[in-house]
Amino acid sequence: MARRKFIAGNWKMNKTPDESRELAAGIRKALEGYDKADVAVCPPFVCLAAAGEALKGSNILLGAQNIYWEKSGAFTGEVSPGMLVASGCKAVIVGHSERRQFFGETDETVNKRLKAGLANKLKVIVCVGELLSERQTNVTEQVVKKQVEGGLAGITPAEMAEVTIAYEPVWAIGTGLTASPQQAQEVHAFIRALLRQKFGAGTADAVRIQYGGSVKADNAAKLLEQPDIDGALVGGASLVAGDFAQIVKAGG
Ligand code: PEP
Repeated sequence: MARRKFIAGNWKMNKTPDESRELAAGIRKALEGYDKADVAVCPPFVCLAAAGEALKGSNILLGAQNIYWEKSGAFTGEVSPGMLVASGCKAVIVGHSERRQFFGETDETVNKRLKAGLANKLKVIVCVGELLSERQTNVTEQVVKKQVEGGLAGITPAEMAEVTIAYEPVWAIGTGLTASPQQAQEVHAFIRALLRQKFGAGTADAVRIQYGGSVKADNAAKLLEQPDIDGALVGGASLVAGDFAQIVKAGG
């Protein structure tokens, strides 16, 4: 099945509102007239409005890097689904490995965040991926299976239409080490097989699985040509408009 590629930029904790406006405008300009892939950018919360202004009227989706599951209340430091929607968000990342490593995110909280995003009509990118020690001890598949099953618990096949999985081996994030196209393809095919078991063939064939981990303009094409790699979640290289646009265009 031909799946439309989906490339998302995760700006992490980079850029002020003014810098975000400028970067979003630069990406928009660099992708003018290009319509062969879905594209999202995910600035920090406080930059959503500024980036959103620069993207208004374009096909580039505005996304957030996290979401909380309660509607409002005494949850200091958290941001509700309604706040994201009111800020123009159409997408959100959940379960990024930095959230898992540094902020205590678990499969259970990833699942709550996913459900909150879907209930608010957001496209949700669910991140999974193994640590270096886990790859070295050959438990990559067990780790990814647990994350996929825990993260997607209770989700229906129909809801999966708005879900993207991002496979991001933790050892490849921000390190300059990229999984080889073959290594990535193997895990993507494994994830798709899990989705087939859980949701059926039709849903599994339609779900997009992004690769993330030091994707750059010069390695994107080889990754994106793999049969089960349907896009990329890009960190560092999404902070330079020209580099990000080249990655988007590398998919075809
Ligand atoms: C990420 O943050 O999801 C990521 C893959 O980062 P980088 O591209 O910098 O490795």
